[in-house]
Amino acid sequence: MDELLRRSEKLTTVGQLAAGVAHEIRNPLTTLRGFLQLQEYNNRVDPKHNQIMLSELERINLIVSEFLILAKPQAVHFRNKNVRDILEDVLSLLSSQANLHGIEFVMSSQTAETDVHCEENQLKQVFINLLKNAMEAMPEGGVIHIELFRPDPDHLGITITDEGVGIPEHQMEKVGEPFFTNKENGTGLGLMVSQRIVEGHKGSLQIESAVNKGTQVTLTLPAAQPEHGEGRERD
Ligand code: ADP
Ligand code: MG
Repeated sequence: MDELLRRSEKLTTVGQLAAGVAHEIRNPLTTLRGFLQLQEYNNRVDPKHNQIMLSELERINLIVSEFLILAKPQAVHFRNKNVRDILEDVLSLLSSQANLHGIEFVMSSQTAETDVHCEENQLKQVFINLLKNAMEAMPEGGVIHIELFRPDPDHLGITITDEGVGIPEHQMEKVGEPFFTNKENGTGLGLMVSQRIVEGHKGSLQIESAVNKGTQVTLTLPAAQPEHGEGRERD
């Protein structure tokens, strides 16, 4: 029953977003068609046009893959996992990009108990989205701090703090709305997807920001739960 309810809620989310997705995909498709028609008319392939077509295809691909994270009906397994391990995986995934842009990650913890009840792949996606945003906000490089703490005995808190461009006050309401982006190659889906995933975990996501000083995202997630029965994980 619970599972059914969750699925139908997800479907509503997907349904509401479908119109927006269709719109966002139609633009690059129109460009693609235009260039293909031009090539047919000229009867030759222009490498510059091909480059544009490839980047438009890449854009469609990005939108679809971010969207699929929400729509995927694939098995969702909630388990007790150590957030530090998940974060370390994600940081090593992003390390070459960070090095390239003079960005350093610093992780610290006020608590030794860093296990949470989560769906690992979804949580990874959240960290990737948030850390990418932090990196993209620091074109000149700098430090991104990740701190773990216990706001109360039932939750783990995670703050991700950057030294980036920040978010102007008048845009604070807009960020996290589907397709709101300030980036040339942005999809405007990262925060919305992250928010949904965190809600699905019964956690919370909050953003505080100051222009030219930086942004701090605070997540809370339910602490690890006693495991029993078939859900139990064997190592
Ligand atoms: P995208 O990254 O594709 O633009 P997101 O949903 O991840 O989409 O973010 C939406 C917008 O929120 C970004 O375009 C940016 O303007 C703002 N934003 C999000 N995170 C940060 C951050 N750490 N620093 C500054 N701006 C941010
Ligand atoms: Mg993003």
